[in-house]
Amino acid sequence: MYRLEEIKRAAQGMWSLIAGLNITGKYFLQPNVTIHYPRQEVDNLATFRGHIELIPEDGDPLTPRCISCGTCAKACPSGCITVTKQKAPAPTPEEVEQGIKPKAPKDPETFRLDFTLCSLCGQCVMSCPADAIKFSQNINIAGYSRQDFYFDLVARLRSRLPKHINKAE
Ligand code: SF4
Ligand code: SF4
Repeated sequence: MYRLEEIKRAAQGMWSLIAGLNITGKYFLQPNVTIHYPRQEVDNLATFRGHIELIPEDGDPLTPRCISCGTCAKACPSGCITVTKQKAPAPTPEEVEQGIKPKAPKDPETFRLDFTLCSLCGQCVMSCPADAIKFSQNINIAGYSRQDFYFDLVARLRSRLPKHINKAE
């Protein structure tokens, strides 16, 4: 009886080994789906989800397409987005005379993302009525503290531009 148990267990072990080797053999002959990072670079990041970033207006890389509606902040289940609207500029003497009140620009003053809370769920991207945010392809993100992952995406959009067209500098 004892011997029969041992034979059964040995047969199960052998079967498990054969099943494992079968999978190894199958994938051994197929092309690699991984790369030797960082010696090799990923050449297709189309489906990669990095932290979100703002998309600029067509033809104006300094101005985010965002209209400060706050829909993304409401849709975010983790509460990681805070959008601050711009204030209207002070009226010029002519405008005061004509009773015109200047309107605030639509694009946000700040667009803060707490990436430490983000689950990359995509609710913000899907809910945006202006198609103003997308996932970045930033794969080399690292930091020394939580604060390194608190982003102002407006400042980030402008800082990523070539210096000769960056008004903020
Ligand atoms: S991807 Fe999801 S968790 Fe991250 S900011 Fe957007 S809505 Fe929030
Ligand atoms: S990113 Fe889109 S949803 Fe979020 S505040 Fe701007 S326009 Fe609204």
